[in-house]
Amino acid sequence: MARTPPPGSRRLDSFITSPPEGEGRKGEREEEDREPSPSLEVKTADGDVYYSSLAEAFERLERLSSRKAKIALIAQFLRQCPEDVLDTVAVFLANQVFPGWDPRELGIGTKLMQRIIAKAAGVPESEVTERFKRLGDLGLVAEELLKGRRTATLLSSRPLTVGEVRETFEKIAEVEGEGAVTRKMRLMMGLLARARPKEARYLVRQVLEELRTGVRENTVEEAISQAFGVSRKLVERAHMLSNDIGLVAKVAATKGDEGLREIDLKPMRPIKPMLAQAARNVKEALAEVGGKGAVETKLDGARVQIHSDGEEVRVFTRRIEDVTHALPDLVEAVKECVDADEFILEGEAVAINPETGKPRPFQELLHRIKRKYDIEEVRREIPVEVYLFDCLYVDGESLVDAPFRERRRRLEEIVDEEEGRLMLVDQIITDDPREAAEMFHRALEMGHEGVMVKDLDADYTPGVRGKKMLKVKPVLETLDCVVVGGVWGKGKRKGLISSYLLAVWDENKEKLLEVGKVGTGMDDETLERLTKLFVEEKDLIVEESGREVRFKPEVVFEVEFEDIQKSPKYSSGFALRFPRLVRVREDLGPEDADTIEKVRRLYEEILKKH
Ligand code: AMP
Repeated sequence: MARTPPPGSRRLDSFITSPPEGEGRKGEREEEDREPSPSLEVKTADGDVYYSSLAEAFERLERLSSRKAKIALIAQFLRQCPEDVLDTVAVFLANQVFPGWDPRELGIGTKLMQRIIAKAAGVPESEVTERFKRLGDLGLVAEELLKGRRTATLLSSRPLTVGEVRETFEKIAEVEGEGAVTRKMRLMMGLLARARPKEARYLVRQVLEELRTGVRENTVEEAISQAFGVSRKLVERAHMLSNDIGLVAKVAATKGDEGLREIDLKPMRPIKPMLAQAARNVKEALAEVGGKGAVETKLDGARVQIHSDGEEVRVFTRRIEDVTHALPDLVEAVKECVDADEFILEGEAVAINPETGKPRPFQELLHRIKRKYDIEEVRREIPVEVYLFDCLYVDGESLVDAPFRERRRRLEEIVDEEEGRLMLVDQIITDDPREAAEMFHRALEMGHEGVMVKDLDADYTPGVRGKKMLKVKPVLETLDCVVVGGVWGKGKRKGLISSYLLAVWDENKEKLLEVGKVGTGMDDETLERLTKLFVEEKDLIVEESGREVRFKPEVVFEVEFEDIQKSPKYSSGFALRFPRLVRVREDLGPEDADTIEKVRRLYEEILKKH
């Protein structure tokens, strides 16, 4: 049963409105002050929610810019939802297809979606591609194309419901094996066949996980608290520990604060990992954690979250992909070396080169972890070792609130280390920066990335990048690159050049060779400033095709990066990994930028570390 809203909150059961079909999207402004207009039925007779009313809510969220107004709208929508689908609605509103802990994926990307839309609308694929280039959003393409469809078939079909959409998503995610792509296509086309144009817009965007409603998970958290009169802090915590916004909405509605307090970690429900902030050196890092802390080797591998419910062991990546199948050796090691039934452990998986004893490049490890078939073969070729560093749950006891020193103690207690299979990361506890620095140098000598410095008294905060854990890595030299191209953004970044193609000179400074793209991680303000600089102030665009542009080589970016790899993707044969703009070098002309020789030297230096 839905709880009564808190005193003072407006109860508007019919908040969701239905503007006439076909009303243009342009020129629509804020709706904050508009009175709610005629209502649209939300609930179906059998306890489901019409997908059209959710699509309507998505559209209104897209138009609203104030966060407060978005929260109010979501809260009112949630209050109207029957209990049975409340969880799904909350998940969908948070721009997720499945709850955060659920590793299932739909496996439909932009390419496949273009084929699906073409088939559903009965047009050639080239037409979809063409419109996609123009509109920058496949949701709008589907909407436009399906508007032209004869309505007779639509009128005769039952309206779509949220429950049915969820069921179809589940079916799409579970299809595998031969003919999987065709079956996925068919299921998605089945949805589109019954969707009205606006529903199609959001179905397509949902599948691509690009709703463009500007709603983040914490917006939904706040809406849940408002809708059911529960504590914001408890909602946030319950979400962190369950990684399931749907569950949180349902519990908030049915059991209130008390129910939320009971939500805790559970094996087989992976959480978002706690993240580290960077520190410039070990001294600074130690000072951040109060002078004394744990200093651990920072291994360059892949983070794994290992869950056991007493029967089964499953392994998840930091992005909650289930990689159990690819790591049978790790599963065996865990079963043999961990003395507990139920647990959640965290560690770093690394692929060691048996000849040198040094870690292999990250790329090779990924190859192993992402492998879907011939596992036994790669298992021998690229053996994986895991170094554990945290322990979040043991036999019915959640340890997220326990200080790190206690979590490490529990880890030592339950793990019977076995060299080359399952170990604990090297750790020292110190308040002496010199001792910490020695540990740092030792780690580098052994080919590791650096060290982690951890606060011994800190609890575990899932998904938070805080100062309880700091990473210290050697600083790489930066590169001065000439910007030779860019890509116009999509969706919210439409009208902004959202990524920039970088190049360095060849040996003779005659030709520019591309080395990578920088874009992710830049905020909108920076992008606006840069777009203005390239397009208006300097007028550098010399060629445009689709969303891609070429610039006259003039502006120099100083960039940082985490690694350099050989790659056929760029004309230099190298690719910068995770490049980040440090600043625009207004003081340099294009002729002052770096050459390929420096890229090669840095590449060799990094290689030596491995
Ligand atoms: P970064 O990916 O550079 O933000 O660094 C944080 C990552 O370092 C974590 O997500 C882990 O995958 C990895 N890592 C390696 N060694 C450790 C360690 N001893 N403790 C915690 N994280 C570690």
